[in-house]
Amino acid sequence: MPSSHPSKRVLSGMRSTGKLHLGNYVGALQNWVRMQDQYACFFFIADWHALTTDYADPSKITENSIDVLLDWLAAGLDPERCTMFIQSHVPQHAELHLLFSMITPLGWLERVPTYKEQRENITEKDLGTYGFLGYPVLQAADILMYKADFVPVGEDQVAHVELTREIARRFNAFYPPRGVTGDGGGEEGARERTQVFPEPQALLTPAAKLPGTDGRKMSKSYGNTVLLTDPEPVVRQKLKTMVTDPARVRRSDPGNPDVCPVGDLHKIFSSKETMAKVNVGCRSAGIGCIECKSWVADTIVGLLLPMQERRKKYEDDPRLAWDILEAGSGAASKVADATMKDVRASMGMLLEYEPSPKADRAK
Ligand code: SF4
Repeated sequence: MPSSHPSKRVLSGMRSTGKLHLGNYVGALQNWVRMQDQYACFFFIADWHALTTDYADPSKITENSIDVLLDWLAAGLDPERCTMFIQSHVPQHAELHLLFSMITPLGWLERVPTYKEQRENITEKDLGTYGFLGYPVLQAADILMYKADFVPVGEDQVAHVELTREIARRFNAFYPPRGVTGDGGGEEGARERTQVFPEPQALLTPAAKLPGTDGRKMSKSYGNTVLLTDPEPVVRQKLKTMVTDPARVRRSDPGNPDVCPVGDLHKIFSSKETMAKVNVGCRSAGIGCIECKSWVADTIVGLLLPMQERRKKYEDDPRLAWDILEAGSGAASKVADATMKDVRASMGMLLEYEPSPKADRAK
């Protein structure tokens, strides 16, 4: 749990995909590590979301969840400064998802851009399921459960936050707060709310173009990743085979770091001095690509080594990591319980029955 209590809440999650790669680090994790001192952060491992595409074989989901957590801890997420939990251990998410699914029009889900795109691109799995269509509703439940003020996302996820805002608005319009006693959420928690759910804002993560070794976007499904756990020789070997500016056929051909994937890596990871050497050396054919790649490999190895050292403690005793998830899930459950109290009260679906005065019942 966070030791200090910043007032604004952040919620974000990652699917249980197993070991993370540099793209995950640059695209999200690095930013999360910074945010844990600025906000009250809730970070969750989305094992139910993993099921929306991997339902046919869930046997690796728990191991994959642990691997994600180990990489979070390795990167610097600290259970003293943020709450880390696993989605399926806070079953209130499923209840809220169900209630939201009652009020979410089908058309809203069918027009989510990633839905159409993934249905077209992922052909090896049958994604014509109710769960896959409804996963943005589950995301809305994940976010609104914690009455998050901000959701850090990449450009492609902004539509999901917008859908979450629409669901919050629709819920608030149907069910004004009644006898709300639960958790009020972030900054406004101390004030009485006029609606159950605040509308979260997307916090756009600066999009760094992180290419994989084949020059396409780094992604597990392309097999072009550098993992946060890759040992130094593997990192160097992977970068050695990385594609470069096709104009540099011979050592004497000048190149252009702006069209070279290795140049993109330099822009993200290297110092200004190294970048200057790359710019001059590449454009004048003063350096070779092997040398240029070794410079970026030095920086990446330097970034990964301390992470790998931190990870080792938890790799040797994964129970420590599991305990962190359990404690985080307990803390998240308390907030979720409070939210569900608000939700049930506003819908008039209380768990305990209190008869209304006879005169009212007669109306
Ligand atoms: S010198 Fe570096 S930036 Fe230039 S083409 Fe080779 S690898 Fe790419």
